[in-house]
Parts: sequence; C-alpha cells; structure tokens
Amino acid sequence: MSADRVAFHFSGNPSRFQLRELNGFDEQSVCGLDTMAAIGLLERLLVRRPGSPTEQFKAIQLTASERDCLLADVYQRTFGPRIESTARCALCGELFDLTFDIGNLLTAYRAVQLSETEARTEPDGTFSLPGGLRFRLPTGEDEMAVVGLPSDQAEMALLHSCIIEAEKGVNLDAVQHAMEEVAPVLDLDLDAQCPDCGSKQQVHFDIQFYLLRALEQQSKRFAREVHRLAVAYGWSLNEILSLSRTKRRTFVEFVDGDLSGRVRAST
Ligand SMILES: [Zn+2]
Repeated sequence: MSADRVAFHFSGNPSRFQLRELNGFDEQSVCGLDTMAAIGLLERLLVRRPGSPTEQFKAIQLTASERDCLLADVYQRTFGPRIESTARCALCGELFDLTFDIGNLLTAYRAVQLSETEARTEPDGTFSLPGGLRFRLPTGEDEMAVVGLPSDQAEMALLHSCIIEAEKGVNLDAVQHAMEEVAPVLDLDLDAQCPDCGSKQQVHFDIQFYLLRALEQQSKRFAREVHRLAVAYGWSLNEILSLSRTKRRTFVEFVDGDLSGRVRAST
C-alpha cells in the first residue's frame, strides 16, 4: 500500500474500497453540498486495481451508509479526526462549541445499531427480517432515480425498489427501521449540553454536508497556495493541481519558511 492510499475499515471488516488522497483537481471539483456532489468526489477518489472485483465499481453504486463512512474517511485524512462545530443553545440562545472525534463516533454508533437489529445478513449481501421479508439497501442510483419526487413519495418509491421478497401487506416502517439499523448513515442528532445554562439538547450532524462545506470554505486558502507555488517555483497550474494536498501544503510551508527567513535577515 502506498503512503497516499489507505484501506477503509469499518466495524472491524476490511472494506473492498480504497481511497487516494485529495489533490488540487479534486478540491477544485467540489461544487455543491448535495448527494451528487458527494458521489462525484468519491468517484474521483476510489482506487481501482486492475483485475480486482471492484475494478468496474462506480461510486453511485455505494449505499448511503458506505458513502458516509468513506466521506468520514476523506474528512479524517484531509482535516484530521476532530470535528469542531458551533451550535446555538435552543434555550438561552448562546453559542457553544461542539468538539468530537469522528472515528469514535463511527465506532460507537455502529456498535449500538448492530446490537439492536433483528435483520439477518444473507450470503449475497441482502438482509432478511424474522417474518421472511428480504430487502437490499438503496444505492446512489436508487436515490437519483427518485430525485424530483416529493420527499414522502421518494421515500416510498425507494423502499419499494429495495424489497426483494415479501408477503402481501408489507410493513414499510419496519423495513425502513431495519435499513437504518443495518446501515446507519452519519446524518444524526447528537446529545449536547449547553455550558452556559446546562440544558440538554440535540445538535444535528451530517458528514456529507460537513465535509463538502469544509472543502468549499477553504477555496480562498487553496487559491493562495496555488499562487504561492506558481510564483516560487514557476510550476504550471496543471503541475500544482496534480500534487496531493499534503505535498502542496509541504511546499507552501517551505516557501513561507524561506520568506520569513529572508524578512528576519533583512531586519
Ligand atoms: Zn443554554
């Protein structure tokens, strides 16, 4: 495994997917905060080895849970494990900081869900419930197929498209609940306590929104880094954007170090 690639692990099972580190082209490609933008980013980053079972795999075929786990992995590798956010207290209205480790959240959340589920995993990757109902998990393709429908209709259509075997009179709520248990997404409400008034409340967190917004928010810094390297080394835009984020940052540090050294020497 090369230094800029890492196998993604989830719940102790090595995943079939590998991601490479972001480069400038990837960072520049992020446009929007929706599911399509997330799929587009993962499509660029998925590493496919010739001859491997996932060689022809597309990011749009990932389930929402797989996608969120990979997005969490991208976040950790790009910005580190800490999530730092600010929320406004629902009771006293004061702002307070919210900080947590994304890896710990993933592990804890998955463990709780798995211990509660009644669904059984079948050898083909589908799931069955005690009553005999069998279902699969919706993929990005399924989600895209219902875009434009009112949300309640989209939800129903998505559930129906994922039921493989069922008796008449399917309990769709039970299917939806089972899907959430076997494949949790990182779009959830976290328990928090306001440090000012002490009131307990829930704060929403969605990894897709959080990662894509973080990438969009760094666009000014990104442009400044590209400019620094172009001026210092005379590299073309293509060459600079091809650098991994880590390498680009390292070169910018060198340039900044030289500049501050020169300023000190001249004073
Ligand atoms: Zn408060």
